[in-house]
Amino acid sequence: LAKERGKNNFQFYTSKLQEHASRKMELENGLRKALEHEHLSLYYQPQVDLETEKIVGIEALIRWNHPMNGMIPPSEFIPLAEETGIIIPIGKWVLRKACEQNMYWQKLGYKTIPIAVNVSVRQLQEDDFVETVTTILEEVGLDPQYLELEITESIMQNIERSTIILNQLKELGVKISIDDFGTGYSSLSYLKHLPIDSIKIDKSFIDDIINHSNQGEMVKTIINMGHNLTFNVIAEGIETQKQVMFLKQHECKSAQGYFYSKPLPAEQMEKLLSHGVISNGISL
Ligand code: C2E
Ligand code: MG
Ligand code: MG
Ligand code: MG
Repeated sequence: LAKERGKNNFQFYTSKLQEHASRKMELENGLRKALEHEHLSLYYQPQVDLETEKIVGIEALIRWNHPMNGMIPPSEFIPLAEETGIIIPIGKWVLRKACEQNMYWQKLGYKTIPIAVNVSVRQLQEDDFVETVTTILEEVGLDPQYLELEITESIMQNIERSTIILNQLKELGVKISIDDFGTGYSSLSYLKHLPIDSIKIDKSFIDDIINHSNQGEMVKTIINMGHNLTFNVIAEGIETQKQVMFLKQHECKSAQGYFYSKPLPAEQMEKLLSHGVISNGISL
């Protein structure tokens, strides 16, 4: 009986594996087509100065506008794109698109602010990543200081190489921020030596700052540590006025979250930009 069951389990797992593999291939092909047919788009979420409520930055976030399945969030395809390597051409597309959009907004005369782009560790590992960024900035004509690259703490896994690449990017003049800060395994002693402009406190820490005093303590600690290392500290995933109060009280300077605005298509982001200030999280 055990043998029989073992065999069934084996069959069960192999068919699961096959299912997974074919779903992966389907997704990958879909992504390739999406890239070719411009079914990818960027949404934009403002980063706001907590004191003045002025927009001080914008994060570009990818969406897959699937002809049949509608808007697909990045959580459903970025991990696979990283696994298969298709993140490389997608990442280039994102960089160019975000730079072009920022340049376009600058030309319209809106306040010049950096556009933040998420970069996978897989992209950073490419030999020509710095060259790619340089070329895109030149072709688009965007001043490097208006591009911010968001990377995660996973770069610490290959600290020697990451240090070299980040220094080259810093020399180029782009800004660098650590995304989802606190969820990875940063060594603080390494962090100190990397050319980092900002850290973004992960939403998971922000969620409970009001109800759980230890989460609040954690956030206070991150803010202080960040400031001691002369980083900009930005809080992610702000949804309530109470969180805003807490962060202001503990001298966090900026924030991003649904409280101020969800990620928006370019035209809607432009309306916010033309206004400049986001008042009390009321969508304009
Ligand atoms: P992330 O870079 O940490 O981006 C923040 C995510 O939190 C976004 O989800 C944003 O929509 C969401 N968010 C912002 N404020 C709030 C809030 O107040 N409440 C809640 N519940 N969520 C909030 P999104 O757009 O689904 O992106 C998820 C992740 O996918 C990103 O996390 C990033 O890691 C990745 N991603 C997005 N675009 C790209 C891209 O172009 N390239 C790469 N490599 N990764 C990307
Ligand atoms: Mg990000
Ligand atoms: Mg994040
Ligand atoms: Mg993230």
